[in-house]
Amino acid sequence: MIGCPAYEETSFEPLTAKGRNKALQAGLGARDMEESVWACTLCGYCDAICPKHVRNVEIVLKLRRDLHGAALPSAPVSRPLVLGCTIRERAPELIPSIVAFLEKLGRPAETAGETCCGSLDAEAGRATRTRVPAGVVADPVCMEQFEGEFLGELAMKSLGLFNLKPPFYYFVPHRLINRDPGRYYAPYHALRLATGCETNLDLNRLARSTSMGSLQGLGGRDARDVREAVGRLLRHSKAERIITCSPADYLAFKQHSGRETRFVTECLK
Ligand code: SF4
Repeated sequence: MIGCPAYEETSFEPLTAKGRNKALQAGLGARDMEESVWACTLCGYCDAICPKHVRNVEIVLKLRRDLHGAALPSAPVSRPLVLGCTIRERAPELIPSIVAFLEKLGRPAETAGETCCGSLDAEAGRATRTRVPAGVVADPVCMEQFEGEFLGELAMKSLGLFNLKPPFYYFVPHRLINRDPGRYYAPYHALRLATGCETNLDLNRLARSTSMGSLQGLGGRDARDVREAVGRLLRHSKAERIITCSPADYLAFKQHSGRETRFVTECLK
């Protein structure tokens, strides 16, 4: 299925939602399709286009829990600003501009004492998802654990604060778009209309993924080829600059695109 990162990389249908669902219908379980269970990056593309509204991401998480036996969730503590591990550990240079942006909005930017949101444990089948109220959540992956406002959406509502001069390619956070296109598509489409930028949104109004914001993007077993995914996304793009509000994808483009890459808050005027 075009749009599924696992399929686009391998052209192997058993690794897709369709392949897994056929296997389940045939009576197979998680142990019989381990490769497929770990190949899914949980990007949500298949959920968004499924005419029967099958919840494929939830099926994969359930199969992973079958393999691992999930523990009770250790609920994250609510915070005014949740930066997420990717920013704190792999891109701390983004923190000053994020704080500056929130201060311009008059929003609390206090992050002291933040711990891991637990999303990667939930993805790995070692825990169940939790939902905790928070202020602003900077990494779309953490939105699966926290109920809060997304930094990237706040940026889209405050475009006047940014210097976003075209031409550029804006990488839209695929997990949010694919899970809730009704809410998240509109502001990014408005950005495209206002600036003429290119994006990873396709004709289905859904977002293609680099796989970087997933377990498989971290490498190791069943790692996806992030370099290849970045190449596919930019195949027809002539933009010299990439801008994104998705921290893991910021790293993916910075490492693999060969083009100037900026996090949206780094473009504050
Ligand atoms: S969630 Fe994404 S990676 Fe997983 S099967 Fe669906 S489209 Fe493929």
